[in-house]
Amino acid sequence: MTLADPATRTSAPVALVDVVKRFPGLTALDGVSLELAPGEFVALLGPSGCGKTTALRVLAGLESADDGHILIDDRDVVDVPTNKRDIGMVFQSYSLFPHLTVAENVEFGLRMRGVPAAERRQRAGAMLDMVGLDHHAERFAHQLSGGQQQRVALARALVTQPRVLLLDEPLSALDAKVRVGLRDEIRRIQTELGITTLFVTHDQEEALAVSDRVAVMRTGRIEQIGTPEALYSRPVNDFVADFVGLSNRMPAEVIGGVVVIEGQRVPLIDTDAHAGPVHALVRPEDIVFATDGDAHARSAVVVTTSFLGSLRRTRVRFSDGAEATLQHEVGHTPNPGDTVRVRLTGRPVAVSRL
Ligand code: ATP
Repeated sequence: MTLADPATRTSAPVALVDVVKRFPGLTALDGVSLELAPGEFVALLGPSGCGKTTALRVLAGLESADDGHILIDDRDVVDVPTNKRDIGMVFQSYSLFPHLTVAENVEFGLRMRGVPAAERRQRAGAMLDMVGLDHHAERFAHQLSGGQQQRVALARALVTQPRVLLLDEPLSALDAKVRVGLRDEIRRIQTELGITTLFVTHDQEEALAVSDRVAVMRTGRIEQIGTPEALYSRPVNDFVADFVGLSNRMPAEVIGGVVVIEGQRVPLIDTDAHAGPVHALVRPEDIVFATDGDAHARSAVVVTTSFLGSLRRTRVRFSDGAEATLQHEVGHTPNPGDTVRVRLTGRPVAVSRL
């Protein structure tokens, strides 16, 4: 048997149904519903304090829900204690036992379940192999980097073959390069094991990069759930458009079912938007330099330009004072103070009431 053998594992569907959680003077979860298909990787994304960790803790049984249902494998687990929910967890802070070796840390959950020593060693070894730390089995936590400690925490969470994996900002204490490496590694291992996973993060790039679907939260509610592509290209409102990806906020007006931005008529994502003045939320890649003679183009003055390796971002100011950032290929190198002509690509945009 290996840990990655699909025959030895089954993935559980998970659902939060109308979950409410109140703290004194505050509703942290205000009717949260979320379904994860077996083996799906879903990120809960939102600003600080929106209730992400509370949702994860309620799912884990570390907090009790005031209302609603929590289903694992279609069974309501509201009254089931944490250690009986078959869940593995990794938290932001490195939570390894300092007096145990790496191998002993990983074996811990198996020891608690009375698994014989030889099997414990074999399973912990296989898990450490999977996270790339088999050669560090005899080290202690203080002899590991932060990224290595989180790999051990992941191995420890997975060694008991839980049916659900909960990750609460497991990367936020790591530096940028290690973060990206470990996030891809987590996704690889999750895919290999096919384990249903809920990943809490406030980092939109992280959420979009690794998830099958992302649930964007605001003040205790889920605003939108969808694939990264859907959230980015069809945000249901300005909060999601603003939170997921970069957006320019440009003064505009909704007239006759379209939005007029710097004199150009552009389709709306939300075709029901009310007529009147708005802010249009325009992606930097949806503004481009215009060719000569382009009737839709507007003059603007370059404010700043930054080289970002594979692309360049240039900020321009229009004659009415509005500013916007364009994202374009590096070969085009405008200088601050240059007058340029730009236009919108015409892809639909989200709008926000003034
Ligand atoms: P962050 O990204 O900062 O961790 P979050 O989205 O995970 O934020 P939660 O930790 O779920 O947010 O908190 C949601 C709200 O509930 C916050 O206003 C928080 O202060 C409050 N809260 C969380 N735990 C408790 C508690 N035990 N007692 C009282 N209030 C709490």
